[in-house]
Amino acid sequence: MTTMNASTAARRPLRTKGRALFAGDVRLALAAHSPGDRPRPVLPVMVVLGRSNVGKSSLLNALLHVKVARVSQTPGRTQALYWYRVGDTFDLVDCPGYGFAKASRESREAFSRLIETLLVTDPRPSVALLLVDGRLEPQEGDRSMVLFLRQAGVPTVVAATKWDAVKPSRRVRQLRQLAAEYQDPTRPLQPVSSETGENLPQLALLLEERLTTPPREASRPRG
Ligand code: GDP
Repeated sequence: MTTMNASTAARRPLRTKGRALFAGDVRLALAAHSPGDRPRPVLPVMVVLGRSNVGKSSLLNALLHVKVARVSQTPGRTQALYWYRVGDTFDLVDCPGYGFAKASRESREAFSRLIETLLVTDPRPSVALLLVDGRLEPQEGDRSMVLFLRQAGVPTVVAATKWDAVKPSRRVRQLRQLAAEYQDPTRPLQPVSSETGENLPQLALLLEERLTTPPREASRPRG
């Protein structure tokens, strides 16, 4: 799990074609421990999900230019959704990493309740950023998450992290394998590296497009 270590952090915005993406301060608005807790007023939501150690804190750091503090993954520690307000234009929800083998059953169930309520309660998130480890073959927990997001009708962008660690000679094959599992016409897959900054502007644009698209008239489960 990650949290940003300052309630407000100044940052240099990521720029694409001279335009600032994610402009504005980032401040911790709420650590939500109970399903349904959310800050007011309600803003568009980007939810960030991924297995523990996928590189979530590094990516949030690189995208939003905020200092991110690591918080102990102690099994049984109370799970929380960290809501960050970004420039009063949208909320970023940092979800606890899933797939932590030593987590107790209670903490896994608490995680499920928090996430499920967030994903299936209207107004639904405008976009889910699902992080998968770009070095690995598709993982079971990530497959389940993609399926859940699809059934919940939440627009999703998949980022394959740590792309710098995939040898150039393996990249085509690896990307093909990840795309076969995660990509479809409505769900883009973007390989990224927080270490080198590769493809971060492209990822930011994909997210921004979805954050600024008005929600569909009703968020019905999709086939
Ligand atoms: P989290 O637990 O999902 O928040 O993951 P972290 O951001 O803490 O990263 C987990 C590990 O992956 C750390 O050892 C990071 O240094 C490493 N890591 C994160 N992003 C990258 C990346 O873009 N490239 C490489 N090579 N390693 C990364």
